[in-house]
Amino acid sequence: MAAALDLVWPPVCPACDCRALRPREQFCERCWRSLRLLAAGDGEEAEGERVLAAFACDALFMQMLTTSKYRRCRQVGRRLCEEAAAVIDRRVFGGTLVPVPLTGTKRRERGFNQTEDFAIALADRTGRPVRTDWLHRVRGGRALAGLEREARRAAVGHAFAADSQYPGEAADPVWLVEDVVTTGSTGAACAAALRSSGGRVLGVLAMGRAFASTSDRLLADRNELARF
Ligand SMILES: [Zn+2]
Repeated sequence: MAAALDLVWPPVCPACDCRALRPREQFCERCWRSLRLLAAGDGEEAEGERVLAAFACDALFMQMLTTSKYRRCRQVGRRLCEEAAAVIDRRVFGGTLVPVPLTGTKRRERGFNQTEDFAIALADRTGRPVRTDWLHRVRGGRALAGLEREARRAAVGHAFAADSQYPGEAADPVWLVEDVVTTGSTGAACAAALRSSGGRVLGVLAMGRAFASTSDRLLADRNELARF
């Protein structure tokens, strides 16, 4: 069924109706180049953790992310990961890349973890190692979308734990890898779990940064730069 759909799938960009050159990446090259870069500097901290994010979570970014995550369009996700990695790779010095884990059930259902794909794209460009066995999720994967800051913090508070494989104090410092940082509570919970085992955390690397409050949104508008 999927192969048959591929054959008849019109190569039209879902965001602008232009012709898409690479049908498996769905969006046209002009849209891929229209992802809005975040400037280095302001807004680079959340919940006390350093955050390096590539793109503002505008409507186009969210459409690409949603397509890649929930409709199992892996190539869209891979392209998004590569685009984001190309933006922040030069700012990643040292450290081991640790993707924020999904629950085992969610990973099995989806068949992949988007943040692992992003970590691999970053590893390809920076030469930094990736470890998926240093951190795991201990509680259910409650959806965070739509929750306010306090509710998010409560939902993820004890959701992560360092794995028995994690060397703690002897470990290379960690860059946590996320798809989208909103309030920063997920990254902070992961960082707390690793630090409680004696480890060091450098910050969070994200494909996108969403800003929850009005003042944050104004900051985002100021930071958004044209891609070309
Ligand atoms: Zn387009």
